[in-house]
Amino acid sequence: MVAAEHKALAARGAELVEYRLDWLSHLPDIGRLLVDRPTPVVVTCRRARDKGLWRWSEEQRLMVLRSAIVSGAEYVDLEEDIAGSIRRFGPTKRIVSHHDFDQTPDNLEEIHSRLLKHDPDVVKIVTMANSPQDNVRVLQLAAGAKVPTIAFCMGEFGLPSRILAGRYGAPFTYATFSADRAMAPGQLTFEEMRDQYHYDQINAATEVYGVIADPVAHSMSPLIHNAAFAHEKLNKVYLPFRVPKDALPQTIKAFDWLPVQGYSVTLPHKEDLLGLTENYDGPIREIGAANTLYKGPGSAWRAANTDYDAALDSLVDELASDPSAGTDAQLSALAGKKVLILGAGGVARAIAHGVVGHGGVLMVTNRTKARAAELVEQLGCLLIEWQNRGAVFADVLINCTSVGMHPKLDETPFAENWLREGMVVFDTIYNPERTLLIKQARERGCRTITGVDMFVGQAARQFKLFTGLAAPVDAMRETLRRAISAARAG
Ligand code: NAP
Repeated sequence: MVAAEHKALAARGAELVEYRLDWLSHLPDIGRLLVDRPTPVVVTCRRARDKGLWRWSEEQRLMVLRSAIVSGAEYVDLEEDIAGSIRRFGPTKRIVSHHDFDQTPDNLEEIHSRLLKHDPDVVKIVTMANSPQDNVRVLQLAAGAKVPTIAFCMGEFGLPSRILAGRYGAPFTYATFSADRAMAPGQLTFEEMRDQYHYDQINAATEVYGVIADPVAHSMSPLIHNAAFAHEKLNKVYLPFRVPKDALPQTIKAFDWLPVQGYSVTLPHKEDLLGLTENYDGPIREIGAANTLYKGPGSAWRAANTDYDAALDSLVDELASDPSAGTDAQLSALAGKKVLILGAGGVARAIAHGVVGHGGVLMVTNRTKARAAELVEQLGCLLIEWQNRGAVFADVLINCTSVGMHPKLDETPFAENWLREGMVVFDTIYNPERTLLIKQARERGCRTITGVDMFVGQAARQFKLFTGLAAPVDAMRETLRRAISAARAG
């Protein structure tokens, strides 16, 4: 079983494989396991107090670890308290490790110094991240270490440190064989590490970007931005940063050490971003929200709202592509058009400002009337009662609610018989791309704009702000579509 899995991993491209002997159901014969191994190995055997599954005696565990050394395993992982009782022998390299499953303690330097006393070739310190800043603390430790040090954090907060470990001198990092075999919280799969984050290409010169959100695990932004960086062969990596509400300013400050060069920012931070800088692109103050932070002239942070730009450009392009539109259609495509927005959340607010700014006749409706009323008052447009939305005669319908989003695929915020031929229907939802609203709109002869168009558009504009280069839009769209299908299939 171990040999077969090891062979399969080697065939998938793994260059170093960890044998977690405590996960085996029988007492391992390590000498036999190591015969004909297809790649170098790290031999690890964790007891229960280190969250391992070892069920035999401590003496047997030490014996197995000594046998691994005698059998010539490339690396053996020794916890701090046993490292002194297991001697160096032959070419086997000693990883002297310390794990803290609760926190990233204040005395990291002291722990590191203690581990150094046990003749390590590699020091490994793994802690639980309880805040985004913990990533910086462990990576700073590794960056200043004289002996190769693998230092990263567990948990969703700690994911960036796993991916950046190599940038700060770690000889290798840890990933799982498959998603359901995670050995520690927050572990990525081997394929995610290699194919999405391109771990083996990250070096000291790699520039760091990322998305700030909470929750962040399901964000498609790392996929699409890393695909774009790889497509353009840029030495940049884009990470998911889980940042709790109210922790935005201190996180950005702490991440200056990495240093992060640009951020996508999403829920729940879009409004708070405005407090971080006074350098804005476009009508951000009026909209009250931004989704991008990038380095402008003199490396000062600038905020932009690429959701706004992408949504408006998609709309104007679609309207201008109407053969009956006049020659100066680009400028006037929205002017005088009756636009009904469903929803009054962040996306609705941004698009509503754009519609009014482009001369559209705006109507807003929302399930919670008070929220719509606030927007209507700010923009001086028309409030439509939620139950009357079907009776409105609109040229353009924009869904900015989450109705119809995966997994509720059979829901729509606008009944089929309310749709009219020739109407432009824009659904901001991108998962799925073909929502029930989009399907029915197409059947009824409406022109459609999907949330995928908008998502790719906003990411492409961020790419341009981050790199100064035109984005590989087709590659980004293809990556997003594949990821949406894969997420639904899974
Ligand atoms: P938000 O601020 O949370 O607003 C959600 C909106 O949906 C509110 O107006 C809410 O109405 C409404 N809503 C939720 N459940 C509803 C229901 N059962 N019936 C009627 N209305 C309901 O979210 P947001 O950031 O504006 O995002 C809105 C949509 O935009 C999401 O579907 C998201 O997928 C999409 N989006 C797309 C992109 C893209 O690039 N394509 C980017 C960001 C967001 P109440 O006020 O009554 O709660």
